[in-house]
Amino acid sequence: MIASLAFDVGAELGEGPVWDPAAQCLYFVDILRNRVHRFDPVTNASRTYDVDRMVGAVALTDADDLIMAVQGRFARLDLASGGVSSVVDVAAAGGDLRMNDGKADPGGRFWAGTMALDTRPGAGALYRLDPDGSVRTMLSNVTISNGLDWTDDGRTMYYVDSPTFAIDAFDFDPVTGTIANRRTVVTIPKRDGAPDGLTLDAEGHIWVALWGGGAVHRYTPDGTRVAEIRLPTKYVTSCAFGGPDLRDVYITTQGLDVPAADRAAQHAGGLFVARPGPRGRPPNRFTG
Ligand code: CA
Repeated sequence: MIASLAFDVGAELGEGPVWDPAAQCLYFVDILRNRVHRFDPVTNASRTYDVDRMVGAVALTDADDLIMAVQGRFARLDLASGGVSSVVDVAAAGGDLRMNDGKADPGGRFWAGTMALDTRPGAGALYRLDPDGSVRTMLSNVTISNGLDWTDDGRTMYYVDSPTFAIDAFDFDPVTGTIANRRTVVTIPKRDGAPDGLTLDAEGHIWVALWGGGAVHRYTPDGTRVAEIRLPTKYVTSCAFGGPDLRDVYITTQGLDVPAADRAAQHAGGLFVARPGPRGRPPNRFTG
């Protein structure tokens, strides 16, 4: 199956798609341009929010705003006014590091990880922002913190540190929000690209974007590859289910590393969509 272009937004580093079932629109970020995009696939209307810093990820909340992982802090984006307000500083996520991928967990917490701007090994971490505004470091010695998601029973968290070429699982305690018993469940062949953002479908299978591989692959929880979505450009960054029946897979891409002469033809940095069959799940919300 080949994905089709949904929105030729020309992102430098498109990332972090999240579907809003109430508004029937998709939010995603352009990390390097400090932007959050809102896209309505029915009308093709879009809105761009300029954030004051690099923004790695957003999640829905219980209010009319988004929680954001921005360089050096967590912040909120008011969707009506576009105003940004700080929630809490995370000094270790600033300087020559930045926030990267993130997602809300089933308990209403918001998780986001970091990477060094020079991608040096082990400089990053994975943070958990709780609804009360406190921040905990959940993992350290991370290189490029990327995709994460939780199973429907709330007992397993999947996680990607891209240079490991693996999808790992943790036991997750939905009450306390703690993780334990890390193990690798999917090993990605290097020829397929590096694992980046991921999402689970309603059957508990894992869809992972492949940076450098021009594809999204579907894996069973025991690590067997069972489906593929191809894209016309190779830096594929993340994926999320959306649409009225949650069967559309929205896929973000990066344009910056594609030679300028090829960007337009590939729609590099564009937002793509495919309809492979399985149903997704509505996203979790941050409840702070
Ligand atoms: Ca990513």
